[in-house]
Amino acid sequence: MVDRSLIEKARDLHGHICPFLILGLRASEIALKKLGIEKVGERESVREDILAIIECNNCFADGVQVATGCTFGNNCLIYLDVGKNALTLVKRSDWEGVRVYIDGEKIREKYFKKEALELFEKVIVKKEGNSKDIEKLREMWMEIGYNMSNISEDEFKIEKIKLKGIERAPIFESLRCEKCGELVMKTKIVSINGKAVCLSCLGECEAVVGRGILSNFKIPYVR
Ligand SMILES: [Zn+2]
Ligand SMILES: [Zn+2]
Repeated sequence: MVDRSLIEKARDLHGHICPFLILGLRASEIALKKLGIEKVGERESVREDILAIIECNNCFADGVQVATGCTFGNNCLIYLDVGKNALTLVKRSDWEGVRVYIDGEKIREKYFKKEALELFEKVIVKKEGNSKDIEKLREMWMEIGYNMSNISEDEFKIEKIKLKGIERAPIFESLRCEKCGELVMKTKIVSINGKAVCLSCLGECEAVVGRGILSNFKIPYVR
């Protein structure tokens, strides 16, 4: 069962409480227990000893970051752009891991009220609905979320899984872009007519956006 203080921390990070945020917390709790480890602490986060692999950039992913301590910034979080609600937790020491997957469709049928789904469709999908609808949806979403905090392990697909090794985050030297003058990770500099230019000045890079990873993403700064 996910405790209330962890839910509050997740709310702080994510901005709201919703079903898939709590499912991310619960999936993490299950994976940590199965691996017999605690949330990533000072030592593990510095050495990237434990990795969390997520498969979608959604509410679930924030739950995972709060509960496991594996984050985008400490390089203990690996993002596979495959669009599934799943978490794999793995120890670097032996590359033994646990993958926890949740079937969103089954969860919706079983735990979501029809009224909540209709409101979601109206407010979020169609961008209709007034402030009263939004408030009502927020309340219902929170209520469903709290109900998910003690959802049974049986609702998840849980597998012990062996992983291939993943490199630790390398440290690269920085080079200065000859166009904008800013320091850039060496691997992100391109040579154009003998000049070292950053991707930002070139106008294109890969980016994680709502739909996942986009290559050839146009740098959006208007200057
Ligand atoms: Zn959310
Ligand atoms: Zn530049």
